[in-house]
Amino acid sequence: MEKNKGSKTDKWGVWMQRLLESLVEKHRPAAREGKLAEYIPELAKQDSRLLGMAVVDRAGKMHTAGAYRDRFTLQSISKLIALMIALMDHGEEKVFSKVGMEPTGDPFHSIYKLEIAREAKPLNPMINAGAIAVSSLIQGGSVEERVERILHLVREMADNPGIDINRSVYQSERDTADRNRALAYFLKGSGVIDDVEETLDVYFRQCSICVDCRDLARMGLCLAQNGISLRGKRVIPGDIARLAKTFMVTCGMYNASGEFAIRVGIPAKSGVSGGIMALVPGRMGIGVFGPALDKKGNSITGVRLLEDFSKKLGLSIF
Ligand code: GLN
Repeated sequence: MEKNKGSKTDKWGVWMQRLLESLVEKHRPAAREGKLAEYIPELAKQDSRLLGMAVVDRAGKMHTAGAYRDRFTLQSISKLIALMIALMDHGEEKVFSKVGMEPTGDPFHSIYKLEIAREAKPLNPMINAGAIAVSSLIQGGSVEERVERILHLVREMADNPGIDINRSVYQSERDTADRNRALAYFLKGSGVIDDVEETLDVYFRQCSICVDCRDLARMGLCLAQNGISLRGKRVIPGDIARLAKTFMVTCGMYNASGEFAIRVGIPAKSGVSGGIMALVPGRMGIGVFGPALDKKGNSITGVRLLEDFSKKLGLSIF
């Protein structure tokens, strides 16, 4: 009996492994249709042809393919981590007095809605304006302490104490962030944040946290298990993990979140480095990396890979 069970599991493992490898091969050529995030000079140096994927299940079994060992920065994926810490620090009422809960049809770095809305509150925490407002809420005695708290949660979710910041990406973004600076000054002018430079420093550093696909897969699994890490440790309160997953569905892929929900149907959060953290509730965490981006700033190969993977396994939560 046991033996049979073992061989069945192995067959599944081999099938999964082959599936991931074939999907990576199939979708890698589409990188030609995308573009690197050139507005951050250090990200423009990435190899646009890379594509990698890692999938981890509740038992910790990890399947990987392609560039799964290559490292990249969290970028917007960090917005989700910062949001969870701000919620742990202040609770929903305070956080959502500074930032809304509604998706936007505008690009992630848009300033447009801030000016025309009745309240100058950013629409949601997954666009840059909203994320900057959230970073201003993270508690700590200094920028370093505040960033260390974000790093700590990323390390706990990923079960990887070695995760750190990529300083070249941090400096590159800090030196070229005119648009984010404009957003931050606008938010200060409207009374949403107090200190522009400190807040931006936290934001740039959280965006520069460096991971690989396996880290993202384990982080996704932690959310899939409502805040319990692979090692069985509760690292996020259950209600906050649920709230984060809801934002992944409604706003996680910027202004492509609706299409992604229809085509792929699982919670996901992307970043302009080409990373996507995704999950299937109660079942698995998924990490994808493909730095060539589509027009909305999502990994062009990563989205196609996830769509194919989700359809083949019937993963849509809807
Ligand atoms: N650091 C990036 C920025 O602020 C993050 C944006 C993103 O990943 N969409 O522009």
